Amino acid sequence: MSDPLQPGACIGILGGGQLGRMLSVAAARLGLRSHIYDPGANPPAGHVAERVTTAPWDDEGALRAFAASVDVITYEFENIPTATLDLLESLRPVRPNRRALAVSQDRLTEKDFLTGLGLTTAPYRDIPDAAALDAALAAIGAPAILKTRRLGYDGKGQVRIVDPAEAPAAMAELGGAEAILEGFVTFTHEVSVIAARGPGGEVACFDPGENVHRDGILRTTTVPARLTNAQRVDAVLLASRVLTALDYVGVMGVELFVTAQGLVVNEIAPRVHNSGHWTQAGCAIDQFEQHVRAVAGWPLGNGERYADVVMENLIGDDVDRVPDLARTADVQIHLYGKGAPRPGRKMGHINRILRG
Ligand code: ATP
Ligand code: MG
Repeated sequence: MSDPLQPGACIGILGGGQLGRMLSVAAARLGLRSHIYDPGANPPAGHVAERVTTAPWDDEGALRAFAASVDVITYEFENIPTATLDLLESLRPVRPNRRALAVSQDRLTEKDFLTGLGLTTAPYRDIPDAAALDAALAAIGAPAILKTRRLGYDGKGQVRIVDPAEAPAAMAELGGAEAILEGFVTFTHEVSVIAARGPGGEVACFDPGENVHRDGILRTTTVPARLTNAQRVDAVLLASRVLTALDYVGVMGVELFVTAQGLVVNEIAPRVHNSGHWTQAGCAIDQFEQHVRAVAGWPLGNGERYADVVMENLIGDDVDRVPDLARTADVQIHLYGKGAPRPGRKMGHINRILRG
């Protein structure tokens, strides 16, 4: 696919959570249809997309029918099984590409890729067994964090090790999963860059946002982030390097630690990102439209920031505040259409527009 998608064309989206939902809305605004593929029943994106396929990732017939019904395939999460991608890729263009997924699915591959580009990450070691953990703790020192190589999100699959004597317990907690050890980075705060790259190689970055996590889950993103001009330029340049090295098409989230020694890359996410939701209220073209434009082969839009914004996730019972928030000026409400609130479940978010 080299020509831009025409009105009426269909974007296939793997995963039907809130990110897929907001991508579908953005696609619809551009006159494009969307088809969600998700193994779970009643996915939030299904309420707004034109079509939904509910089938497991290994259902070849369902995957073939899905591919036949769409013009391009994208995804809202990075843990798509390899065999699923092998099949889909043989049938339709998948954007972002395979390499971006492979790199970000595995924390070890990701760190090797980032350091290979000359970027700074936390010190890390591969941990195939208990002996490797003892050696890594001796080399890196404590505190450190043992993380599963795959399938971690919202701080899950991570154990902090404050004292090397805790190593056996930490190994046990991960239950034999392949892991890496990361040295603990002393940062003043966390920021992220939401960056986009089109098929022609043009790159556009949104202004970095400053992120606050609680219990391993993102709570707020604030723009502008506290950064010096030099750091802001650095953040954007390093994100561009990552996208270009991967020949990436679409939007990516690049998470950074701000330290006294400079910016340290935490991780990359090959998709629209929770810390980019502020763009819905701060920019003429938000991250969802930008992603749709990129994968559809349209020119990238203007992601310049027009307002100061605080994005706040509505997690679990936070949604009970919605009636009050609805009466508050300058608050943009986004609800994901999920069922009952549960602790830790992302139910929606708000964008509070700050006026000078
Ligand atoms: P998410 O889905 O929210 O991105 P995740 O499960 O992929 O989370 P990470 O981004 O690796 O996990 O870590 C979650 C948070 O834990 C980070 O945002 C940071 O606050 C803290 N953290 C992770 N690694 C380190 C480190 N090496 N040093 C210090 N803090 C860390
Ligand atoms: Mg993270």
